[in-house]
Amino acid sequence: GDGAQVPALVIGTGYGGSVAALRLAQAGVDVHMVEMGMAWDTPGSDGKIFCSTLSPDHRSFWLRTRTKMPLNYFLGFPIDRDVSRYTGVLDAEEFGGITVYQGRGVGGGSLVNGGMAVTPKRENFSYVLPSVNADEMYNTYYPRANAGLGVANVDPAWFDSTPWYQFSRVGRKHAQRSGFPFVFVPDVYDWDYMEREAAGTATKSALAGEILFGNNHGKKSLQQTYLARARATGRVSISPLHRVVSVAPAGGRYTVTIEQLDTGGGVTATKTVTADRVFFAAGSVGTSKLLVKLKATGALPNLNGEVGKGWGDNGNVMCGRANHLWDPTGAQQSTIPCAGIDNWAAGGAFAEVAPLPTGIETFASFYLSITRNPNRAQFTWNGATGRVDLNWQASWKQPSIDMAKTIFDKINAKEGTIYRTDLFGTYKIWGDHLTYHPLGGAVLNRATDNYGRLHGHPGLYVIDGALIPGNTSVNPFVTITALAERNIEKIIATDL
Ligand code: FAD
Repeated sequence: GDGAQVPALVIGTGYGGSVAALRLAQAGVDVHMVEMGMAWDTPGSDGKIFCSTLSPDHRSFWLRTRTKMPLNYFLGFPIDRDVSRYTGVLDAEEFGGITVYQGRGVGGGSLVNGGMAVTPKRENFSYVLPSVNADEMYNTYYPRANAGLGVANVDPAWFDSTPWYQFSRVGRKHAQRSGFPFVFVPDVYDWDYMEREAAGTATKSALAGEILFGNNHGKKSLQQTYLARARATGRVSISPLHRVVSVAPAGGRYTVTIEQLDTGGGVTATKTVTADRVFFAAGSVGTSKLLVKLKATGALPNLNGEVGKGWGDNGNVMCGRANHLWDPTGAQQSTIPCAGIDNWAAGGAFAEVAPLPTGIETFASFYLSITRNPNRAQFTWNGATGRVDLNWQASWKQPSIDMAKTIFDKINAKEGTIYRTDLFGTYKIWGDHLTYHPLGGAVLNRATDNYGRLHGHPGLYVIDGALIPGNTSVNPFVTITALAERNIEKIIATDL
């Protein structure tokens, strides 16, 4: 409540925030978590908590009057539709040169993401987090994160036989015929549950088009894993629909200013809480925006010049290929990707074979590539608009396109196929206007020390994707979780 005093306040309930809350609570520290999104624990009038990707309603997007689908065209026609403005679960946040998709609600990105839970190859780790001891990560913190998240692989025999992964098997055949390594990708979706969905003995979720706006069943989001364990300690409380707008020093502690929101996005109350320690876990964009604003406006004057720098898009780029009529990808497609094409070493690209679950046969193979894009952007405070800008340029995606082409130009040549030009506009091949994987902005060992302690203000920590310098070579949340496990262990041992 207003005026409360707490030992630890965590801003945001995604991966970094959930790890911090659980481990602090287990160490005997009371934790208060502040989350701008909704709780997502109550069914709507249709009996469901989340709406499906194929029929988005007000629950789909964060404060928009029209959907902004990542894949915004089909057969050359725009597919976006009007929705009523509501604090929905997926935010499509627009900056000058890029749209950044993020989860909003208790569980953060785990509510909306594909659940692909990938540990980077060890040989790539020094590129991912150069200042971190790889032995410790691979011996202790990656295993701890994978266990905590409930990561598992699809049963290969079921994969080979089910119609729901025909699209992936076509992806495998084409990858292997062009000589690319094809790898299974672990996920936090409950694979036994998915097999029961396919058998008709469980309510369908991944097999009913649910993903981008939440899964009503099957997916082990943070609500089922870290946050459930954190709550079970009895030491963690969560305030949904509350947004942190300021953090400022107050006699050895910090005063945190919080706005309470209604479901139309309006501010209904402003509260202050005093905290001994504050953990910034608002995600790469959320944490960066807060820190850049608080430094520029003088609330946290001692933050260093690295705050806001080193932001990257994990090299995300999407594309589709048009298959021959003898290579249908299936009218039935699971929304959970479970495999990828690894050409990182030779071409700087790791492509997940993604579903296109439209319910009809499209003969399309669809891919989200993670590439070694070297471009890094910076967040800056714009005093005139009272907003934080990001200087990413649309043209900075070109290296990602070039790297993705090392895979798909070769496959197209081998198969005698072409790129789809109808998925992102008319005659547009590349989905190069967005990212699902924002990373950086308060980079480890630059804006913070090597464990996430912000320079200049003791008791302030960054513990989310903002720490990671722009690229993880694979999907990021396992690395975000593992790094948070590493850092919070050190912080509990030495700072409390
Ligand atoms: P987040 O999970 O983003 O959590 C931050 C939380 O803070 C949010 O809940 C936000 O609402 C809240 N917040 C922000 N600002 C404030 C504020 N001022 N006050 C209060 N609360 C605030 N990654 C993978 O590894 N595998 C995948 O398959 C995958 N698929 C994805 C698919 C989609 C559509 C999207 C959008 C992302 C996907 N990701 C995937 C990325 C992954 O979800 C993110 O990397 C991850 O969630 C980031 O974790 P985080 O802890 O840094 O922050």
